[in-house]
Amino acid sequence: MNNLQNPDLNRLNPMSSSPLATHLAIREMVLDGMQLASVKDFFRGDLIHLSTYDGIIIEYTDQDYAIKLVSRIRSHFDHCLFLKPVFICKESGSISGVLDQNTDGCIHDLNHLYQLQVPLKKLLARIESVNLSGNQSYEEQVLFNFLAYIHTRDKEDISPFIDKSGIYYPVLSDFTKRNANQKHFIALLEKMEKDAYLQGFFHSATYVCSECFNDYLMYREVCPHCHSAHLRSEEVVHHFRCAHVAPISDFKRSDVGQDGLECPKCQHQLKHIGVDYDKPATMHYCQECNANFQNYAMKAYCCSCGHDQEVEHLIKKELKRYSLTDKAINALHYGRLHSRDKSNDAILEDTLPWHLFIKTVDFEETQNSHGQSNIVKLHFNDLSSLIKQVGEENRYKIFNEIIQIIKATQQPFDFRGVKFPFVYFSLLNTRQSDAEIISQRIVFLINHLLSDNLRLKRVILTAEVLPMNGKSVETILSGIPSAI
Ligand SMILES: [Zn+2]
Ligand SMILES: [Zn+2]
Ligand SMILES: [Zn+2]
Repeated sequence: MNNLQNPDLNRLNPMSSSPLATHLAIREMVLDGMQLASVKDFFRGDLIHLSTYDGIIIEYTDQDYAIKLVSRIRSHFDHCLFLKPVFICKESGSISGVLDQNTDGCIHDLNHLYQLQVPLKKLLARIESVNLSGNQSYEEQVLFNFLAYIHTRDKEDISPFIDKSGIYYPVLSDFTKRNANQKHFIALLEKMEKDAYLQGFFHSATYVCSECFNDYLMYREVCPHCHSAHLRSEEVVHHFRCAHVAPISDFKRSDVGQDGLECPKCQHQLKHIGVDYDKPATMHYCQECNANFQNYAMKAYCCSCGHDQEVEHLIKKELKRYSLTDKAINALHYGRLHSRDKSNDAILEDTLPWHLFIKTVDFEETQNSHGQSNIVKLHFNDLSSLIKQVGEENRYKIFNEIIQIIKATQQPFDFRGVKFPFVYFSLLNTRQSDAEIISQRIVFLINHLLSDNLRLKRVILTAEVLPMNGKSVETILSGIPSAI
């Protein structure tokens, strides 16, 4: 007992007594054979110097400094660091929020180090059980680190942490720069769930920017014509007696008193709503372009990336709490994740993977002795601005719809292939003149989808009919730099 209360606190490090500036100083301590490094929360030295210790103690002086240092450690790529047991030493009070979420405990005095002995041993044993030597791609390493953090902290599940700065999950998101990381970590979590490393449970839901996935959005009602938010709104009054309908201001007469209403058409007073009159609608008046309308548009400005979008384009995100699956725990012991096919273009439904598409064109061409088959090439000239308007995530939704439009027009034996910004489809056993008409019809339908349903403008779509004359594959491949 005596031994526990008076741990071996020898200051072994000559640094501690050296005149090193406090923002670089590392104090070494030993606790039951374990080496600990104690630094001030405003530590500005290279974190790598801390990677050889069994644990890190942060001497708290200021909330922001402490958060910043914990964040630097937890988002560090080196596995010797991000998993490191980190404790806070704070003279009084407790720690909460992000600091509590991302550290492993709190003591009030460096002389009470013994309190850390049990939790530290337990943590080190769990960290030991993770095989950190695996060699994997950057993305896999990020995922692996996240899984390793949850596992070593012995958490049943992990919930998103939400405060005034946004949403974050430990390790995955650097919580001092949440905005920049948002897009990345949401996609990663979805991928991990799809790959069965995580099991997700509904936690809450929100809308995020279609461009950067941030949720710090500024909503406002705007004029559907000029998109100005400078609007004036007024109720519309319907006088039962004479059926006159006009904005309420037309019924206001100064000589009838402040609240009195008088009909400008029949000059009768309107006394009781529901008896003399009702208010069937509210009209909005744009102060910029003078348009008036009953339904305004809603826009959401993303305070993170500056993308201003119609609310219909916002992406609904389920925020989930996650627990590790057995597959994840096996991967942690094994030392690496099993990566999947990363091909993006194959995600679209009802299209052939690109190499198969090319093979099929090649094959069909040899069958096409009568010259009655065609490949149509659709070119989305301004694809990057289309994606910018709808967001990366919606891109696949839209292209899936486009593929369905094409498929509905084709015959059952026809096929499709995609290599952005091109979409190709076959019109087999079809005369070239008919193929021209069909492709124009498809262009019309796609434009209709983009402009009417999605209110997308500025997308220029062209269609070119390529008769299958023995050179289609060459023509297709020559139009796409480094196609395969
Ligand atoms: Zn307007
Ligand atoms: Zn009237
Ligand atoms: Zn954004």
